[in-house]
Amino acid sequence: MRLQFLAIAALAAATTVDPLSVPISDVLYDVTFDSATAYKRTINVVMSFNTRGAGDVILSLPAWTPGEYEIDNFVRHVTQFAATEGSSPATWNKIDQDTWRIHSSRAGPMRVSFDYLAMTLDNAAAWTKPEFAFFNGTNLFLYPEGQSAEFPATVVVHTVPTWKIATGMTQTSPNTFTASNYHDLVDMPFFVGRFDLDSALAGGKQMRFASYPAEALSNSTRRMVLDQLAKIVPAEAAVFGEIPWNSYTVLQVADSEYSPGAAAGLEHQNSHFDILSVQVLGNPVLASLYAHEIFHAWNVKRLRPAEMWPYKYDRPQPTPLLWISEGITDYYADLAEVRTGLTTPDQFYSTTTGKTEEVSNAPPVSLEDASLTTWVKPLDGTEDIYYPKGSLAGFLLDIMIRDASDNQHSLDTVMRDMYQSDYKRGRGFTNEEWWAAVSRAANGRSFATFASRYVDGRDPFPYDSVLPLAGLRLTADRTVLPNLGISTSRDEQGYKVIELNPAGTAIVAGVKVGDYLVSLGGLEFGNPDFGPAFNAKFGAMPPGGIIPVVVRRGTQDVTLNAKANFRTSEQTRIVPISGASPKAVRIREGILRGK
Ligand SMILES: [Zn+2]
Repeated sequence: MRLQFLAIAALAAATTVDPLSVPISDVLYDVTFDSATAYKRTINVVMSFNTRGAGDVILSLPAWTPGEYEIDNFVRHVTQFAATEGSSPATWNKIDQDTWRIHSSRAGPMRVSFDYLAMTLDNAAAWTKPEFAFFNGTNLFLYPEGQSAEFPATVVVHTVPTWKIATGMTQTSPNTFTASNYHDLVDMPFFVGRFDLDSALAGGKQMRFASYPAEALSNSTRRMVLDQLAKIVPAEAAVFGEIPWNSYTVLQVADSEYSPGAAAGLEHQNSHFDILSVQVLGNPVLASLYAHEIFHAWNVKRLRPAEMWPYKYDRPQPTPLLWISEGITDYYADLAEVRTGLTTPDQFYSTTTGKTEEVSNAPPVSLEDASLTTWVKPLDGTEDIYYPKGSLAGFLLDIMIRDASDNQHSLDTVMRDMYQSDYKRGRGFTNEEWWAAVSRAANGRSFATFASRYVDGRDPFPYDSVLPLAGLRLTADRTVLPNLGISTSRDEQGYKVIELNPAGTAIVAGVKVGDYLVSLGGLEFGNPDFGPAFNAKFGAMPPGGIIPVVVRRGTQDVTLNAKANFRTSEQTRIVPISGASPKAVRIREGILRGK
């Protein structure tokens, strides 16, 4: 799969020649959002720069926002495009769907301007309300084709004087922000307008929490969020040994327009942006979303698969390693929570069990294939499976590394090693480098079989052999429940029979619609312990036995005899093994406490 992809990429590179712009410098973006543009739901952008001479200035708008892994074609939202050279209109045309060619007749100042229609409630996009806007740099900021991304840029925001601005960009005056290169420029989304902005310290660095709408969250809820962030940051920084920002901003929007119950985050190098439905606003479980997005500041924004290094904004950048960037980030979000006491070990086991169920309910797909395919959003039920499945792969690798090194090394060792040897050397990492780092951490143990069966291949994960190394096991509790074909509905008199399955044994025994179900097998129906008690009493009964059914018909209790028929439900759980070896206990504690 990976080889096939590389062949296609090579072919595409051979047939695509990127255009080359006349060099430009002194790039300034003026962004206007005020009551007047809010009324039109637009954001006005003016890009000013100096050209170095005569020729074609070729400017493109990104087609996607990194982290979103989908082509959004932001150019669709551009209206009223215009270009001037000095004070005269300049000639321009488009040379592909998101690229403009503007004729420069001499060295000197040029400007291009447009209105951006901002009504997409999505973390990768731009959206306005009467007194609020958010936007991503990928939506608004054009870049010169064929020129290094290492050009500095300034953004000036023109807005209502009493409105606030929040962004991860460096602020040089109240409305002026700078970035030293284009990648940073488009990695720092903005809030402009009326919203709450609180700050505290997290891991000794400034942590800001920007929340829209203003006053949607109480002071105590905002403080709870900052307390959660203050726990998460040091726990995650401990994996890598540093906090790579001076200030970090959590940008959060809640709106009734968003899918009920949904919450989605998008990571950046010194901020992240969450959009929530109003139903989940203020819910303490959002800590797991914050922990996931903040971990990305190291894992994917800095330590990143080579296929996405550097980001290219005009095309998809599929990688077979997204399971590391997303799934292992998800594993570390769970670890950050349990290591800081935001969750209990039992909650960690239960979250992890939930992931095993997600994987077993999805069609078998390899982590590498699922990673590669995300850009096309497959409809076969595997679209997001590299999150839970990648998280479980991280969990298993963590256990195996700790086992091979007697808990001296862990997956943390791998993450830190890769961060130093790839990100710090200014490059992305390869699959080979990943497995070499895993093997190094495990004192030289080979992971070739694990990689080929469970990461490149589709074999079911070896929970039974790996979890016990950490004093854990995955158990399945099988429960027997009656299946006599009776449907009841509760009213003030009890459990009324409303429907009988014509093929069920209750109807044969003489149960009638309108009866009230009193007991089954001598056990009071509706009692909270009915399920476990029934399982205990009848779990071993062979089919064909008789179960007494007591119904109240009018004022009389009637006992009927139904032929036994059962269904089983299976509940899996990850549980600690009592009496596990001291080494296995060390490993389990090491995972839960980060040692
Ligand atoms: Zn993520």
